[in-house]
Amino acid sequence: MRRIICALCALLVCITLGGCGRDETADHMFFAMDTLITLRLSRDADDARMAEIFAGAEAIVTEIEKNLSRTIPDSDTSRFNNSASGIADAGIHFRAVTERALAIARETEGAFSPTMGTLSALWNITGGGPVPADSAISEALSHADFRCIAVTDAGIIKNDSGIQFDPGAIGKGYAAQKLIDYFRGTEIRWGLVSLGGNVGVFGEKPDGTPFKIGLTDPTDTSRTAGYLLAEDGFVSVSGDYERYFEADGVRYHHIMDPATGRPAESGLSSAAVISADGTLADALSTALFVMGADKALAYYDAHPGTFEAVLITKKNEIILTPGLAAGGGFIPAQ
Ligand code: AMP
Ligand code: MG
Repeated sequence: MRRIICALCALLVCITLGGCGRDETADHMFFAMDTLITLRLSRDADDARMAEIFAGAEAIVTEIEKNLSRTIPDSDTSRFNNSASGIADAGIHFRAVTERALAIARETEGAFSPTMGTLSALWNITGGGPVPADSAISEALSHADFRCIAVTDAGIIKNDSGIQFDPGAIGKGYAAQKLIDYFRGTEIRWGLVSLGGNVGVFGEKPDGTPFKIGLTDPTDTSRTAGYLLAEDGFVSVSGDYERYFEADGVRYHHIMDPATGRPAESGLSSAAVISADGTLADALSTALFVMGADKALAYYDAHPGTFEAVLITKKNEIILTPGLAAGGGFIPAQ
């Protein structure tokens, strides 16, 4: 029997704000980009101004979604995917995300691959499968090479009409970055945003303590594996417990190995990335999950100063990157 489990854990990460009374903060939640978005800001303005700031934030996400969505028919992503050779009039968000996505795909040697839209549709993970035939996987993979897309002065072009852009592993991190950039331009002194496994924090809380971001325990998603202590920056998590279906006792999750066209079996069950760059954090959490622990640590060594990570293996072993371990930025749950 096939069981469909779509754990849209909007708050994959739980955030605790020790030492801050609720009246010191203002919260705003809304649904966009297929996920629940939570904003929590220091209450540094009157109610009318706080409402205006939240409305501004919602407008930013709506604009990004209008550019990036795979389901809105006239979004840039849809128009690009339905075109034979690309689009000349891409909006700023689609252009920016495509540019970053292609650069990260090159840098990770394709572990992050934003052009597997055909493959994602074929697997239909959130719809519950079924497991596709090998021949269908090979066919989808033959139209998934990110090198077939380029950003030029003329627009975003493709030389394989069957290729489909999929911003699923980078778009929410990009939106988190844009929201934090926006809040920094207001009078709000500190706050956080959370978009389906992507968290951004900025400023300093009144009690001076860092933000504490809980990481889900992949073996029991009601529990926390440990806490990341974050100052300014972003945390993104990719886990095999987030979205999957089960068939014949096998779990088929949503993070695909571009080399096989199947859910990545890298020995990891989750990868969390901490970075000052929200877009990078999102894309890299997916890439490190695909790489597995050894390659992820080698990638870390080759990119000093750009990120830290917490990798949780299928055997529930927690691996920290050296900078995180040395800085004491992770507290395992008791
Ligand atoms: P995330 O939860 O950020 O790891 O993103 C996973 C989503 O990105 C999936 O639901 C797919 O839409 C897409 N995706 C799956 N595998 C990859 C991959 N290796 N590289 C880029 N995007 C992927
Ligand atoms: Mg991601």
